[in-house]
Amino acid sequence: MNDKSRSQSLALAAVFSGYGQPFRLEEFSIPQPGRGELLVDIACSTICGSDLHTWHGRRMEPTPCILGHEIVGRIAAFGNDAPRTDLRGHSLQVGDRITWTIAASCGECFFCKNGLPQKCEHLFKYGHNAIAPGKEFSGGFAECCILTPGTGIVKLPDGLSDMIAAPANCAVSTVAAALRMSGTVEGATIAVLGCGVLGVNAIAMARYLGAAQVIACDVSVERIAVAGRFGATDFAEPDDLRVMLQDLTSGRGADISLEFSGAAAAAAGAIAATRTGGVAVIAGTTTPGANLQLDANDLVRRMLTIRGLHNYGPQDLLTAVDFLSATADSVPYDDLSGGSFALVDIEKAFAASSELPGRRVAVIP
Ligand SMILES: [Zn+2]
Ligand SMILES: [Zn+2]
Repeated sequence: MNDKSRSQSLALAAVFSGYGQPFRLEEFSIPQPGRGELLVDIACSTICGSDLHTWHGRRMEPTPCILGHEIVGRIAAFGNDAPRTDLRGHSLQVGDRITWTIAASCGECFFCKNGLPQKCEHLFKYGHNAIAPGKEFSGGFAECCILTPGTGIVKLPDGLSDMIAAPANCAVSTVAAALRMSGTVEGATIAVLGCGVLGVNAIAMARYLGAAQVIACDVSVERIAVAGRFGATDFAEPDDLRVMLQDLTSGRGADISLEFSGAAAAAAGAIAATRTGGVAVIAGTTTPGANLQLDANDLVRRMLTIRGLHNYGPQDLLTAVDFLSATADSVPYDDLSGGSFALVDIEKAFAASSELPGRRVAVIP
């Protein structure tokens, strides 16, 4: 936040009003954090694929809203009864650099009590809510953000840059959730279908967790090259994946298949690539219409586990931050950077992001 806006007690936000309309740069009064809330000065937000879906009109969000949920910032103020510790139990102070879960959940409802906090009946998602007077700062593309009660906060280690840390709270945590749901990763043969930001992070995390073989599958030669730098041991085009896996596994197939592509064909490919008794996690599709044809006989005889995954739980954000900290020097995360833009240039940032699938473009207030 710059000195000018702070002295005026105003902060800038990029308001999204709907598909085809330019972002509106507006200043709003900086709110006092209410009960259980924190005020955070945003340092960096990255543009996620779902922000792009909304911008392109492929997905509808209530508007006007402040998009952006992959956010890093510094604590500016605590409201009454706001949490003073992060998810690890480490104390929180004004000035601490943090990231936080994409969603806040109540902890009390059926889904919260049954391990699905991302499906909370009272869910609040950053970057997904219509703004209202006095409630503007709920997304990443602004100078500040109000954290609501039920948000999982993680203090960031100094060694982790804003650019590398920001995608932790969506892409990398979703990958952590996918691998948590997959069963034993150590020693496993894992097929990763779709090598965008999620896919290559999945490759790196699977290797970090001791996977024996990680096969990268994508239609893009460029993304396959990045997958190699992120630790993939083998590479396949979609049509060749099943045969390659059979060669690598004495005809069995992958122990675990992870789908992050968003194409129905990739979800079908993930299921086909999985060995008898294996697990396929389907995580890439968040818009309707990706219809799958499944032969129930195949499902029965191959005893497959097929799991859908949407977002993640707070423990996955901790896993993501720990993983990024441990691998910041060994995995070339800079390969995923699509550069950074000032908040006032948010139109340019979104245009650049759409031209760079597989990269993260940052918006710096
Ligand atoms: Zn996201
Ligand atoms: Zn709940």
